[in-house]
Amino acid sequence: MVQSLDRSQGRAGAPAVNGDAAPATFTGNRGLQLEEKLIFEMGQHGRCGVDLPEPVAAKDRLGALRREGEIGLPGLAEPQVVQHYTRLSQKNFAIDSGLYPLGSCTMKHNPRLNEKIARLSGLGDIHPLQPVSTVQGALAVIDTLAHWLKTLTGMPAVAMSPAAGAHGEMCGMMAIAAALEARGEGHRKTVLVPESAHGTNPATAAALGFVVKGIPADSRGRVDVAALKAALGPDVAAIMLTNPNTCGLFENDIREVADAVHAAGGYFYCDGANYNAIVGKVRPGDLGVDCMHINLHKTFSTPHGGGGPGAGPVVLSERLARFAPRPWIVRGENGWDLLEKGIVDDAAPLGRMKAFHGQMGMFTRALAYILSHGADGLRQVAEDAVLNANYVLARLKNDLSPAFDGPCMHECLFDDSFLKDTGITTLDFAKAMIDEGYHPMTMYFPLVVHGALLIEPTETQGKEEIDKFCDTLIDLARRAKSGTATADFKAAPMLAPRRRLDETLAARKPVLRWRPTNREPGDGPLRQAAE
Ligand SMILES: *Cc1c(COP(=O)(O)O)cnc(C)c1O
Repeated sequence: MVQSLDRSQGRAGAPAVNGDAAPATFTGNRGLQLEEKLIFEMGQHGRCGVDLPEPVAAKDRLGALRREGEIGLPGLAEPQVVQHYTRLSQKNFAIDSGLYPLGSCTMKHNPRLNEKIARLSGLGDIHPLQPVSTVQGALAVIDTLAHWLKTLTGMPAVAMSPAAGAHGEMCGMMAIAAALEARGEGHRKTVLVPESAHGTNPATAAALGFVVKGIPADSRGRVDVAALKAALGPDVAAIMLTNPNTCGLFENDIREVADAVHAAGGYFYCDGANYNAIVGKVRPGDLGVDCMHINLHKTFSTPHGGGGPGAGPVVLSERLARFAPRPWIVRGENGWDLLEKGIVDDAAPLGRMKAFHGQMGMFTRALAYILSHGADGLRQVAEDAVLNANYVLARLKNDLSPAFDGPCMHECLFDDSFLKDTGITTLDFAKAMIDEGYHPMTMYFPLVVHGALLIEPTETQGKEEIDKFCDTLIDLARRAKSGTATADFKAAPMLAPRRRLDETLAARKPVLRWRPTNREPGDGPLRQAAE
């Protein structure tokens, strides 16, 4: 995925890395940071990691479909494969490597107890196509987790199968569409989305054929209630509101918002990605929410996306429960069962969200987390997450520029006004953090704040690490303002294995397939093949 390698000069006085001034090593390695080729470039024809007996001659039934050429798999010995993937894994910064302050992502420690439970063979080694009679325990685990999600949120039903937050949004909005259709009001096509919303909210609504209407934030960083009320009408299907919102603030007027939306005949979708800030403290059901996804990989400490599948169960209100997707898990006379039809008389399942029943490994981890914390522990999670974020806010507020007045919830938001007239941008600042050994915070999101820096320390970082992080940011902010280090900021990161990549090109034209014909001897970095 390396699109280009910036070979600009390193920081004056410091050893430049990957820059022209860097001492060239014979191998291209830097210390014990090893350069890594693609596995296809390492493989050798005819080499194999396992000894397989010659296949017994069998009658060829493929005819003209028989492959003539080589299959093209890289040929490597087992130690080469192990070393390749181990080295790749070391290039990936992870929560297990250090503080990961990515706002809105709740990158907190995944307790190893969760991992131990998920690996119990009765839970880890089962298959979704096994007969239901052989997976009674797994179904009981899913139902127990469902029970606690409903209890914690104060909601009567939950759809367990969505595989991520965004998938949960889709499930919840499909339930709303089904409910409107059942009411004969399928013509309601407008979905109101505050301008601070995560991009998945408008994307979900648009993907389902709704028309998205943005609602501005007020000067306090909350949804502008007057503008919201003015936008309500007979065309409005729903509002999608995040609480706490993506500015890290509690939407104080949420009850008023819920009442107004309901009075106008709409539904209230709550984006629950920030549930970590209120888990055990607030029941979204009490706030008038009709449905809300819960990112198990955020609040309940299961691995995130690239580190494992996520999971986004959706809790549903009484009004939406009957539209919950298949399968419904029920306990009958013969034990647990998976029903396709739904268990209430007027059930009208909206369909299936995925082939099977959800992410079993995430369910076991989340349940292990919930049960090991208990009610008091979960409440403390929320309190500590909010305390840590406010501590960061208090420590940084004189050197960085807080976006809004007053305390925050689980994450604190700054704008780029502290960099005014320095010529240094939020991006430069974030890249300089990499040289200091910190994964940057979320940048340029939410969009309602100029040059946003969104920091979420989470509750699992101790005071020493948070202090060191704050000291580093204060030092960087002062250097930025001093005007003496601008070139360093512009050149950062200087100590990372790669400098600044063309991230737009990488996102728009990712090179996902290796083709030997793409490369000529002496070619530089991989380039996109002409299609
Ligand atoms: C993370 C997040 C999402 C999307 O969740 P995924 O699990 O990544 O699909 C949606 N909204 C907000 C506010 C988020 O932070």
